[in-house]
Amino acid sequence: MSDTSQGAAAAPGPVTVRVPAKVNVQLAVGAPRPDGFHPLANVFLAVGLYDEVTATPAPELRITCTGPGSDQVPLDRTNLAARAALALAELHGLAPGVHLHIAKDIPVAGGMAGGSADAAGALLACDTLWGTRTPYAQLLDICAELGSDVPFSLVGGAALGVGRGELLTPWQVGGEFHWVFAVADGGLSTPAVYREFDRLASGTDVPEPAASDALRTALRTGDATALAATLTNDLQPAALSLRPSLTATLTAGTEAGALAALVSGSGPTTAFLVKDAEAAGRVAESLLASGTCVAARPAVSPAPGATVVVKG
Ligand code: ATP
Repeated sequence: MSDTSQGAAAAPGPVTVRVPAKVNVQLAVGAPRPDGFHPLANVFLAVGLYDEVTATPAPELRITCTGPGSDQVPLDRTNLAARAALALAELHGLAPGVHLHIAKDIPVAGGMAGGSADAAGALLACDTLWGTRTPYAQLLDICAELGSDVPFSLVGGAALGVGRGELLTPWQVGGEFHWVFAVADGGLSTPAVYREFDRLASGTDVPEPAASDALRTALRTGDATALAATLTNDLQPAALSLRPSLTATLTAGTEAGALAALVSGSGPTTAFLVKDAEAAGRVAESLLASGTCVAARPAVSPAPGATVVVKG
């Protein structure tokens, strides 16, 4: 049963949570299981591009969104942030009386887990606003129910995700890595990319996904050159098949001096690992000048997971 008075009484005022995007530094994809999900060895690295989710008490659940691509974000209960608020309210028997404002900076449908970031952000913002003090393990369980990438958005840093990608083991990162993310015109649907993966893989022997030891060492030692040599994304051929123009973006970044180039997750954002901040500026400039992307965003990793930045 819902209890609006309890929710309203606990509300201190606006709460803003900052949540990072992710890049998959390894995305090993196995053959689909009978339930349709693909087993993964998914190494997430949180990067310093952020959405902010602000929760304010309101008579009923309401979502607003601003920022690049916000016109493609649903404002109804299918929004992952709305689903997070509803799940938390249900757990505590509260009415979901909250206005969630999403200030988007993570590319929408870009393979950088923007929706997942908003879900993790909304969960933490509502938990803080409502004073529900949900144990962290329980927040992680709600995240896993909302989507495979959502738990990592809460945790941040670097982590190996197995199963559907939601069973996380934190990995150590021994230094800063510099990236440039080239934002493509329009998005790619993650389910469509997996369908294309299955089509391309049909009749072939798809190996069991396994995490790379060399990658783990490169992250632990903060060695960008070693990391560049170990970046892999099994979804890249499928993303390139659906969006052949991304090949030109990858080439432009490589020719501009990136240490490595790959599609970020299911794409169509492309990720360029570079030596340092100065190289990031140069590669970003060249990528924009090449006309193969609509924006080029330097960012540093690792980044912290969902963090309360304003508590009214
Ligand atoms: P991932 O990398 O986790 O596969 P993505 O970064 O490719 O995801 P998202 O930005 O999460 O893609 O958006 C995927 C789709 O989810 C969008 O097209 C949109 O319809 C829907 N969606 C639901 N909630 C949100 C949200 N809060 N922000 C963005 N998209 C959302």
